[in-house]
Formats: sequence, structure tokens, C-alpha cells
Amino acid sequence: MTDLFRALKIEKVDDKQTINLVDISENDLMEGNVVVDVTHSSLNYKDGLAMTGSSPIVRTFPMIPGIDFSGVVRSSEDSNFSIGDRVVLNGFGLSESHFGGYSERARVSSNHLIKLPENISNKQAMAIGTAGYTAMLCVLGLEDSNIKPTDGDILVTGSSGGVGSVAISILSSLGYSVIASTGRLSETDYLKSLGAQSIIDRNELSEPSRPLGKERWVGAIDSVGSQTLVNVLAQTKYGGAVSACGLAQGMDLPATVLPFILRGVSLIGIDSVMAPISKRERAWGRLSKDLDMKKLSEMVVETSLDEIPKFANAIIEGQVRGRVVVNIS
Ligand code: NDP
Repeated sequence: MTDLFRALKIEKVDDKQTINLVDISENDLMEGNVVVDVTHSSLNYKDGLAMTGSSPIVRTFPMIPGIDFSGVVRSSEDSNFSIGDRVVLNGFGLSESHFGGYSERARVSSNHLIKLPENISNKQAMAIGTAGYTAMLCVLGLEDSNIKPTDGDILVTGSSGGVGSVAISILSSLGYSVIASTGRLSETDYLKSLGAQSIIDRNELSEPSRPLGKERWVGAIDSVGSQTLVNVLAQTKYGGAVSACGLAQGMDLPATVLPFILRGVSLIGIDSVMAPISKRERAWGRLSKDLDMKKLSEMVVETSLDEIPKFANAIIEGQVRGRVVVNIS
């Protein structure tokens, strides 16, 4: 008898996208040399875009969504991975051109897998998820630009969201003083509990302003883009740095070069999807040391494979706080 398991499947007929929970077998999976029993996945902004079809994330149909997963190796043709190894995968085309994590089983390339650090459980790995791993890449970008806690404040935009929440938590554990920018001032207590020292209304940053403003922060982690990123750069102190990873406000960047040529500000581009394995291992290693797992648990809600499509619109509309873990098994 065929061994069936459950997966979410996005299909497109006559330009109309549908999403259903279906039973499939390993024969239906895509190519790869390692099969993983997926235990957890997560919800990221990009998952919202893929499930609603509001942006062309999915490149080939049918598709199993879910840009990340954690799980346990079920079978392996690569001697570097053994049955029972706990692994994580972020990006590398999951939910775009390769079946993703919203499935009880996944077949992937061993070149895309990372073994989880001992002290990060499978559930914690997806509480962190792609948003949290990206937040760590952003922090590493600031550190590599030699921004130290004693140099001044760090601004985090989109702070109630996944990248923002994890970024605040890591930065505060490392001793940085964090300013959180949010459109949800009602989340002030939440943001302070993660370690934000002060909160500003995101409206302060979202409208066109002068090309150079008062110098307010020495570094920033921006998941918002557009006019917000322009204003973030314009108010960064001399010699400061900004890690840019997102586009929640928009993908445009109507900026001037003045912050770069008059203040020596650096703009650091952050990509999590195609980041090389060495960078991923560095990020996951640092997450295992520098992320307060108690704070992480406070930013998480848990859901299931059948419930996850209900969150798709909410995350695009900026209504999801912190992180959503999908318990698959
Ligand atoms: P979330 O939806 O969890 O967080 C985004 C936050 O941005 C919201 O919670 C909200 O925070 C704020 N926001 C939403 N809409 C607007 C708006 N119109 N103007 C200003 N702020 C807004 O998403 P994630 O944390 O998962 O992802 C954040 C961004 O980072 C996304 O654009 C995503 O695509 C990108 N990303 C990029 C990666 C990469 O590899 N470069 C990897 C992971 C994510 P608040 O209510 O507090 O203002």
C-alpha cells in the first residue's frame, strides 16, 4: 500500500489560485537526495504573498508552500546526513521552484540543509524561522560594520513583525540600546518586554522628508523599505550602518546619495534565500548563543497545517505579531 502523508497544495487554473490540504506520496515529491520528516514550519511575510498569490512568489504550479522547515532526516543518500539528524532549511527556492515546508515530508538537496545546533529544538528553530534567521543576518551585518553597543542607539523598523521582534530581542541581549518603530503603539508593552528601550510611531518615518535629518541612531535594521528606509538613512549618525532586508512598505527607494557621501553611512543588503551555507551556519550558531529562548517563546503562536491559510491575509496586512509556528507532525 502507498505510504501517504498530508501536504498543502497550491494550484492555478485560469489565473485563479486555490489552496487545499491533500494526501500525497513520496513519488509526488521533487528531486533531492535527503527525505525529511517535517516536524515544524513557520509563517513569514513571503508565505502570505505565496498563499494569496498577491505577488509572483510561486514560479511553478502545483506548489507546496512554506519557505522553511525543521525536521528529522528519514532517509539520506549523502553520508554527511544520517537518519535521525535534526535539520533546518530556509529558502533556497522552497515554495518558489521547489516544494516547501507545509508538508509532512520533504525531499531536498543535502546542499541546502543545516544541522540544528544541539540547544535549539525543532519547534524553536521554526519559532525563529526565516524571519528570525534573517534578523540575525541583519545583526551580523551591523557587527561586521563595526557597530558596537557603546556607539549609540539601533533602530528596528517593522518592529512588531517577525524580523523586527527577533531583531529587538537579539540586539538587547547583546547590550545594544534599541529604538522600536511601529504602527501598533498598542504593542508598546510587548516591544519593551523584548528589550526595546523606546518606541516611536512609524508615521514619523513613512512620509517624504529632507535628504539629511538630525542624526538619531548609529545603526538600523529595516524590514520596511521605501520612504521609511530613505528616512532611516537620512537620520543615521556619521559612520553608521543600516541592514536592509524587507519591503513591507514598498520596494521603491526614493533616496539621495547624501547620507552615503556626507556621512559615510553604509547600506547593507541582506538576503536569506541564497545565502551560502557558511553564512547560515554562522547565523544559526549565533542564534543558539545570543537569542533569549524565553523571549522567543513569548513572541510565538502555534497553528496547524489545516489552519495556516487563514493567516495568509493577516500577515500581509501587518496584523500578525511576532512569529507563527506551524506544527506539522
Ligand atoms: P511581518 O509581516 O511579520 O512584519 C512586517 C512588519 O512591518 C509588520 O508587522 C509591521 O510592523 C510593518 N509594516 C507592515 N506594513 C507596513 C507599511 N505599509 N508601512 C510600514 N511598516 C509596515 O513580516 P516578516 O517579519 O516576516 O518580514 C518582514 C519583511 O522582511 C518582509 O518585507 C519580508 O519580505 C522581508 N524578508 C526578507 C528576507 C530576505 O531574505 N531579505 C527574509 C525574511 C523577510 P509594525 O506594525 O510594528 O509597524
